[in-house]
Amino acid sequence: MIIIMRRGATPEEIEQVKAKLEGLGFGVHLSEGVKRTILGAIGGDKSKIDVEQLMSLPGVERVVHVMEPYKLVSRAFHPDDTVVEVGDVKVGSGTLTVIAGPCAVENYTTLLETAKEVKKAGATILRGGSFKPRTSPYSFQGHGLEGLKMLASAGKAVGLPVVTEVMDTRDVEVVAQYADLLQIGARNAQNYPLLKEVGQSGVPVLLKRGMHCTYEDWLLAAEYIASSGNTQIILAERGIRTFETHTRNTLDLSAVPVIHKLSHLPVVVDPSHATGQAELVPAMAKAAVAAGSDALMIEVHHNPQTAWCDGRQSLNFQQFSQLMDEIRTIAQAIGRKVAA
Ligand code: PEP
Ligand code: MN
Repeated sequence: MIIIMRRGATPEEIEQVKAKLEGLGFGVHLSEGVKRTILGAIGGDKSKIDVEQLMSLPGVERVVHVMEPYKLVSRAFHPDDTVVEVGDVKVGSGTLTVIAGPCAVENYTTLLETAKEVKKAGATILRGGSFKPRTSPYSFQGHGLEGLKMLASAGKAVGLPVVTEVMDTRDVEVVAQYADLLQIGARNAQNYPLLKEVGQSGVPVLLKRGMHCTYEDWLLAAEYIASSGNTQIILAERGIRTFETHTRNTLDLSAVPVIHKLSHLPVVVDPSHATGQAELVPAMAKAAVAAGSDALMIEVHHNPQTAWCDGRQSLNFQQFSQLMDEIRTIAQAIGRKVAA
């Protein structure tokens, strides 16, 4: 249930509606938009709400029943776009943000070289996994704490904020010390204890869509983070499992406009994990920009043939730089800028 206040409703009128809802046992989420204030009633027993009575309170314009099971992340509860602040980078502000870097942190020298190159090409957030969710237990699992330290120092050295994955509730505290953005991977997209833990960390979260998640599953996963106290969430479309086996996953580009309609949270598209093939990344990255994605996340490696993880889908420096040039053209064509 949301209560939309009239334009110019006074703080006293808003307070009166809030008190009424709280008195009925609801939690109240207040969204003070540019144009008007919206109060969202969370939890509680809807049958206790007398719509006529609420409508008669001064300042109330409309009472709307919200059908969606997610609340805090829904567009209905919060009509204005949320801008997620990652260091000094603003994701969802209308300017396209590009996140780039290796799948996994391998060593400091090559990470630093990659950080410099992706920054030069126009990326504004550096990525690099240190706790890696590998399909096989025999594959490289990441450098853990040492990798986090390397990532944070490379980011500092070049002046880029960093994003890295956290896979375990026990690691959230330490990863939050080194990362500017916590990544929840596709395999953990519905790990509810982990979602609650990152929700309490105070650090923005990049939530990948689970490979089997519907939009509703995905938004409810985000709701776990939001209801734990953190609405600084970026939703990442990284491809879903379908019957098609040619590509690693199937990039679901409809997610961009649909999520923008259902939610106020910014969307990032990851064409690297979606396709699994470097030669398909540019086409899908450009399509994502044209579709209105707020950001892109792209795997870049100094020498993809020798990468310890996901080399097949990683762009080399030259390919990434060329893609950035092409992206600028697409962004310009649809009236958007690329962050630099
Ligand atoms: C990654 O970003 O390196 C990763 C493992 O992604 P996903 O969780 O989408 O597979
Ligand atoms: Mn990867």
